[in-house]
Amino acid sequence: TEKLHIVGGGMAGSEAAWQAAEMGVQVVLHEMRPKVETFAHRTGNLGEMVCSNSFRSDDDEQNAVGLLHWEMRAANSLIMQSAKKHRLPAGGALAVDRDPFAQTITDILTAHPNVAISYEEVTELPDQGQWIFATGPLTSETLGAAIQAETGADRLAFFDAIAPIVYAESIDMSVAWMQSRYDKGETEEEQKAYLNCPMTKDEYETFIDALLAADKTEFHEGETAKYFDGCLPIEVMAERGRETLRFGPMKPVGLTNIHKPDEKAYAVVQLRRDNALGTLFNIVGFQTKMKYGAQTDVFKMIPGLQDASFARLGGIHRNTFLNSPTLLDSQMRMRSKPNIRFAGQVTGVEGYVESASMGLLAGRMAAGELLGTPLTDVPQDSAHGALIHHITGGAEAKTFQPMNVNFGLFRPIDGLKGGRRGRKDRYKAYTDRAKTAWSEWLDPSNEPALLAD
Ligand code: FAD
Repeated sequence: TEKLHIVGGGMAGSEAAWQAAEMGVQVVLHEMRPKVETFAHRTGNLGEMVCSNSFRSDDDEQNAVGLLHWEMRAANSLIMQSAKKHRLPAGGALAVDRDPFAQTITDILTAHPNVAISYEEVTELPDQGQWIFATGPLTSETLGAAIQAETGADRLAFFDAIAPIVYAESIDMSVAWMQSRYDKGETEEEQKAYLNCPMTKDEYETFIDALLAADKTEFHEGETAKYFDGCLPIEVMAERGRETLRFGPMKPVGLTNIHKPDEKAYAVVQLRRDNALGTLFNIVGFQTKMKYGAQTDVFKMIPGLQDASFARLGGIHRNTFLNSPTLLDSQMRMRSKPNIRFAGQVTGVEGYVESASMGLLAGRMAAGELLGTPLTDVPQDSAHGALIHHITGGAEAKTFQPMNVNFGLFRPIDGLKGGRRGRKDRYKAYTDRAKTAWSEWLDPSNEPALLAD
């Protein structure tokens, strides 16, 4: 059979190469390091962790990333095998000894009879052959330009600007209300896209003080600090003048508080629906470099968000990522060049585990295609399925920003208690349902009966 080319030997590319090779496909893995360096990688190893040495929570019953670990293990993941071998004590988290971890991945792939490694940069998107591009947040400059030439400049970003995302169920609707500014939007659906949280003058002033005083993170060394028009961190806007936010993302115009129709709010924080399910809302214009602890303190000062749970906190990083909802199909193929798949962080997932899991899927999908046995789409109720569904279809394309796995991406289960008190049972039900769906998808004996006849 034809070879599979995989570009990038990081979390996603290493996992993709392993999965495809184990399915019997000949893989060529192209990695530019150590010849071409990035500002974050230090070695020439495959599977290098660039910052923390943690794969986060390993709890597969109450945590969505722990569930991804479970699913990856069930799929014989190389990243999870190496993590097990080099695990360090870290409470409920899966932390590893990073150098031997990456060394094991490098050794296993180097020795694999179906894998050849080419330590060269790839600079274009080929028209021929089966390819997976897993070049990560620090995709090389030349390749970035080639991708933009194919997608258009506005479909490949070099920085993210992540506004915090709140679970809809944790918003106090006795304070907040649903309304789009000036009631814009044709359909009821569009009018339901926004939630509003009102502030009095005192609340606004206190909020600005807290923003200015909060601890901020710095850009990494080598990561050029560059902000773009329209996505300044809110604390930078606040530094420019106490009223800037009130005339920017927090302007109180075109809105009527249904709870207090006679009171004019001094400022309004808007949240916008972040996924088709309506379970997640992002705080509009609130991208920030505040530290995580400071973010939860400051954002809970917003009336209506006093009990908010965050599916993800805000951030701004150097991060090359595609507008996947418009560019990729449900199996991560480029719509305009279906011989090319993308995988990993460049598809707009965020984190080591999420990136590796998208590599796992891309590797299997590409191998299935080459072997003449294409895979069915991943079930949406699994953690892998929830994530791939979000990036390739469920997320709002216009405001697409990188996403980590979280239970807000899962389809709700009817009849379960909502809110904080029902959370434990709800998460257990999600993880049980996910494990069943994932195991069925993995098991080839569950192919449609048609094939057996
Ligand atoms: P990578 O692991 O970066 O792998 C991509 C690979 O492609 C690299 O080896 C690169 O050398 C190679 N490559 C790029 N371009 C080319 C080319 N043209 N030809 C050939 N090879 C190429 N995530 C976390 O979960 N925790 C953290 O603490 C964390 N900290 C981070 C800190 C920084 C500074 C950055 C930039 C990211 C951080 N991330 C973190 C995100 C992290 O990068 C990703 O989660 C993960 O490494 C992405 O996996 P990947 O396989 O998509 O990309």
